[in-house]
Amino acid sequence: MSRNPRYDILFEPVRIGPVTAPNRFYCAPHALGTGNQMPHTRAAMREVRAEGGWGVVNTGYCSIHPSSDDSPLPYCRLWDDEDIKVHALMVDAVHRHGALAGVELWHGGSGTGNRLTRMSLISASGISSGSTYPGWMNLAQSRPMDKQDIREFRRWHVDAAIRARSAGFDIVYIYAGMNFGPYQFLLPWMNKRTDEYGGSLENRTRLMREIVEDMKEAVGQTCAIALRFSTDDLLKIPGETMQSEAHEIVSMLSDVPDLWDVKSSSWVVETRSARFSEQGAQEHLVSFVRPLTSKPVVGVGRFTSPDEMVRQIKSGILDLIGAARPSIADPFLPRKIDEGREDEIRECIGCNICVSSYHDGVPLRCTQNPTMGEEWRRKWHPERIPPGDPETSVLIVGAGPAGLECALALGQRGFAVTVAEAREELGGRVSIESKLPGLATWARVRDYRTNLIQTMANVDVYRGSPLTAQDVIDFGCDHAVIATGAQWTREILSTNGYPFDGIEASAVFTPDDILSGSEPEGPVVIYDFDHYYMGSCLAELLTQRGLEVTIATPANAVSAWTFMNNEMGDIRRRMIELDITTVFEHYLTGFDQGTVRLASIYRESDVKSINCGSLIVVGIRTGNDGLYQELKSDTDRITDAGIISVRSIGDCRAPGAIVHAVYSGHECARTIDAGDTIQPIAWERARLLSGT
Ligand code: ADP
Ligand code: SF4
Repeated sequence: MSRNPRYDILFEPVRIGPVTAPNRFYCAPHALGTGNQMPHTRAAMREVRAEGGWGVVNTGYCSIHPSSDDSPLPYCRLWDDEDIKVHALMVDAVHRHGALAGVELWHGGSGTGNRLTRMSLISASGISSGSTYPGWMNLAQSRPMDKQDIREFRRWHVDAAIRARSAGFDIVYIYAGMNFGPYQFLLPWMNKRTDEYGGSLENRTRLMREIVEDMKEAVGQTCAIALRFSTDDLLKIPGETMQSEAHEIVSMLSDVPDLWDVKSSSWVVETRSARFSEQGAQEHLVSFVRPLTSKPVVGVGRFTSPDEMVRQIKSGILDLIGAARPSIADPFLPRKIDEGREDEIRECIGCNICVSSYHDGVPLRCTQNPTMGEEWRRKWHPERIPPGDPETSVLIVGAGPAGLECALALGQRGFAVTVAEAREELGGRVSIESKLPGLATWARVRDYRTNLIQTMANVDVYRGSPLTAQDVIDFGCDHAVIATGAQWTREILSTNGYPFDGIEASAVFTPDDILSGSEPEGPVVIYDFDHYYMGSCLAELLTQRGLEVTIATPANAVSAWTFMNNEMGDIRRRMIELDITTVFEHYLTGFDQGTVRLASIYRESDVKSINCGSLIVVGIRTGNDGLYQELKSDTDRITDAGIISVRSIGDCRAPGAIVHAVYSGHECARTIDAGDTIQPIAWERARLLSGT
């Protein structure tokens, strides 16, 4: 297949200072969860993007000095010459595929913690920014930078830029955004200086300009200097000669940097999930820049549609299509467009599991791309998979995300695959849950897989086919894979946090009941100790149906886990907008005769009663593993039927998020012919710190 000429514009080279990007696909700086500790994992995670056609591949935030330390979050660093080797590993990997490599040099100012290095924080005027989230709060405040500090600050940038050049980077960033060092100088409420670095906009911009100019002088002959710049705060400050200070800064510095990378100043806004934002949602933060500079402009927007990418370029908003999440979900997105295979793009669903992995301090995990983070450790490539024996047959029972991913990967390996699904509709939980408010994109988990599976002659799919153990035995296959999912229970937690038998009243529902069409009588209390999306999504759904809804939870927030994937604030706002009542830090202690009883988690004698028609318990799921257990327990019949192995995968094996089910299905497909042996997984060890 060949490329649709409509997309030719995406494959034009773009000059960036002294270097040229081979096309407009730009893998924007974003953390991978690997830091400097996992150089091989990091290099492999970046390399697949270069191989997949991204013309520029960047690092995540890379500290220039120990006074900018984001521990325990995984950031990378270029503090001294010893740090060069681990970066060179990634640069070489990216260069192997003809892409440019960029490094996002970063100083956090007072926007970081220095928890490991214990150096005092520095900032424009010693004013620290506040956070309402404990994970981001910092007990240490910053001190104002004096002239000596400013000289050092500039020198650190230059020294790091020189090291970056030694590592082979083509693009070197200064990061003046997201409440980090140079950005804090731009904001009048963070910069109260009375010297030449404070006061007028020109003065507040001085440090940023000086650093760009210093870096240009030091490495600008060979490396492009990119300025990463946040606009949302500055767009709100009226300018003297232009609409806003953001406009004025861009026109003042117009052609000073070689590239403008424009973004939000908020990590939460920048990574807003699909539940709360559309593709291209940051256009209003970026679109004013292009007319004010002759240098290329890049911005992100969870772009997965090539038509939207073309629109961004043709309408003069962007020159380069920035991507973090779309490149995680599909490292081969540009290649697929280039080869006329747009239908095969594994589109990001905007769930932000990747964001949560960074907060967890582990290599990024992705719902759509099970190979993400496993490229080096397990040698899993996002597009290539070792062939299997076409004579070997595999029966998969259940076509949810686990079963479908397993079928796709086994099909790609060449096995003879049969999928039996009880329902008429494929997709299991994603088909059901994607009908919840805001989760429509989640159906992409199903659609990407079913679209490919239907083209495979070696994969047969039977809908409306609930199988029993006898059916599996009668079918006669080499391997049986049980992917029958999980169900929500009515179990609740005791006051010390252990499950006990739930409340058996007729008006108690589970999410499965509601999702399969039960109509609870209002008012409704949702008791949520699952802490992810289900409780708040059901609250939205039932409110849309006109019911009065209360969410009660032992946590101190609605959907408390979603602090990890940056959705918590948006969920809370949505609950407030919809007038959904919330009761925090309370356990459920009883429900009868139209009353829910709750007790404070701090003092059991503090009780609350809420009148309601129905109670929905959102807490614990249990695997539908009856079929698996029955097959496993009957080894004689299995052996007689010639079945070599019976495995369970996905939620049936251990309930989790969709990311776990997809991973489980993929892992099964990769290892099905490896027998029962647990494959050794390569761990990166401390010696790799030296880059060997
Ligand atoms: P997972 O997330 O692990 O993929 P899901 O719950 O999304 O799990 O999907 C499980 C699928 O298995 C559902 O579509 C369900 O209809 C199907 N299923 C469950 N039991 C059987 C069975 N006995 N035979 C065929 N399909 C089944
Ligand atoms: Fe997209 Fe979710 Fe994958 Fe992140 S984890 S890249 S949001 S599909």
